[in-house]
Amino acid sequence: MTYLFNNPVDFRREFLLGLAAAHPASIRPIAGGAGVVSVTARQPGEVGVVIGGGSGHYPAFAGLVGPGLCDGAVVGEIFTSPSAQAVGTLIEATDSGRGVLLMFGNYSGDVMHFGLAAQRARRDGRDVRIVTVTDDVASAPPGNRASRRGVAGGLYVFRAAAAAARAGWDLDGVEAAARSANNRVFTFGLAFGGCTFPGAAEPLFGVEESSVALGLGIHGEPGVEIVPRQSASDLAALVIKRLLDERPKGAQRARLLVNGLGTVKYEELFVLTGSLLERLQAAGVTVVETRVGEFVTSLDMAGCSVSVCWTTPELDRLLETPVSTPGLVDCGSPAVDTPDVRELANLLQPRRERAASSAVRTPAAERAVRALSGAHDAISADVVRLGKLDAIVGDGDHGLGMDRGFGAAVAAAGNSGSRIGDVLEAAGLAFADVGGGASGALWGAGLSAVGFALNDGEHAAAAAQAGLAAVRDLGGAQVGDKTMVDAVAPFVDTLADELSRGASLAQSWRCAVQVADERTNATRELVSRRGRAALHAEHGLGVPDPGCVSFVTAVRAVGEFLDESAGVDR
Ligand code: ADP
Ligand code: MG
Repeated sequence: MTYLFNNPVDFRREFLLGLAAAHPASIRPIAGGAGVVSVTARQPGEVGVVIGGGSGHYPAFAGLVGPGLCDGAVVGEIFTSPSAQAVGTLIEATDSGRGVLLMFGNYSGDVMHFGLAAQRARRDGRDVRIVTVTDDVASAPPGNRASRRGVAGGLYVFRAAAAAARAGWDLDGVEAAARSANNRVFTFGLAFGGCTFPGAAEPLFGVEESSVALGLGIHGEPGVEIVPRQSASDLAALVIKRLLDERPKGAQRARLLVNGLGTVKYEELFVLTGSLLERLQAAGVTVVETRVGEFVTSLDMAGCSVSVCWTTPELDRLLETPVSTPGLVDCGSPAVDTPDVRELANLLQPRRERAASSAVRTPAAERAVRALSGAHDAISADVVRLGKLDAIVGDGDHGLGMDRGFGAAVAAAGNSGSRIGDVLEAAGLAFADVGGGASGALWGAGLSAVGFALNDGEHAAAAAQAGLAAVRDLGGAQVGDKTMVDAVAPFVDTLADELSRGASLAQSWRCAVQVADERTNATRELVSRRGRAALHAEHGLGVPDPGCVSFVTAVRAVGEFLDESAGVDR
């Protein structure tokens, strides 16, 4: 799906205009529109480095031009090779007299047009060489490396050659640096969905919703295999296996590139990265650099590719040259070895504040621990519905937040002290820490306040009132604002009334749940006046407040643990 375009026919030129306008410190456009050149192009004594290919792959190729990186990029129409004429223009614009290296992905159109342009330039007396990028392991067997397609691994090839050129190497040296980098880089890609040309109604190709296409090219070229959708960690295993199958003998140090193809975004890529690193490290690979982001995209294609570049000290020196381009800025500080990801995983585990408590709990405290766990089960079973309710006027996270919050509360309660007040205080602190969102903060404050009050010697009714007061103080909501207060306040009032009439805790609780449920239903008629729901309040008419719904679900479940003997005997 594309959203921003005028006449699709003008897309390439309009994209180049915006790019050049936004990055005058690194590039300028070539008159006539064949592409862009670096503001530092044609330095005396330096070989020219030109890359190129179709548009639709930003930051490849035009975004990788500028100080420290390539001197120029020829920019074709979407997924279309630029013409030999256009390539010729860039050769002229970048040749300082020491020759030009042309680099591009190994696709037949590019091979023909760049080849023709090189021939013509040679006839004019220029020294022009060609290195095609061939890193896609899915596109041809290992014995036929020269037939492979070029994908994201080109980044290493371009950087190595450009750095050699910047260092004043001659054309033989620059070409050799590019070839050596290309021989050391291996890429494997996956796709979950196709890509759409600007203005087109349909994607260029599709991938079944339940499938992942392995080894799909960056223009929708067929993959090697279709497998069922699976977890990021299982996909990482598949990819790393393919890449390690081609590990050169003795290769031990690698650079890892995790490249988004368009629609799969950064946080997902980082999730994959952890699993990729775990597997590389388990195979004894020292990863000296991990780069995650978008380097060679395919319009809005849903997918990603993983490249491993088996590096050498010489290649490291080249790849650490500072670059300043529209699509890649790197100040060139030496790479730091990637830490052991299993140690990172341990570090990121939620902290256990206290060792498992050996306290002997009172019956009430024991019941509270079990009741919290029952509430957690009930909320877990209702995550999807709560999320949908929240999505109508809010952000859709309410079910997950409540599930996380109760999960943490239950874990903390199990490690807390001997009295019911200790249990609820600990549960509240953990709920607020882990639950997140408005409801995490409010539930945390409410539970803790009930715990404090009980530990202070208050009776059940007063403790419940302290909980309500904490929720009101923190959130500032009143009854009628369409927040959880619309359920909590009548719940607490009914509980207090029934207890004062002499009813048992279990009976009073049942009555209070029923009233809270009715009042939750009545929130359908209300318009939100607090929290993020207030912004789109009118959409919520007819829908109950999610915070009220989850409150009733939780307290109803707690009620199951209260029998006639139940009290709050601290
Ligand atoms: P967030 O709004 O941060 O995404 P959640 O989705 O977890 O938080 O919770 C939304 C619920 O929180 C609402 O349905 C409402 O019951 C409750 N809520 C939000 N703001 C307040 C407030 N100021 N006072 C009381 N309850 C509130
Ligand atoms: Mg929310």
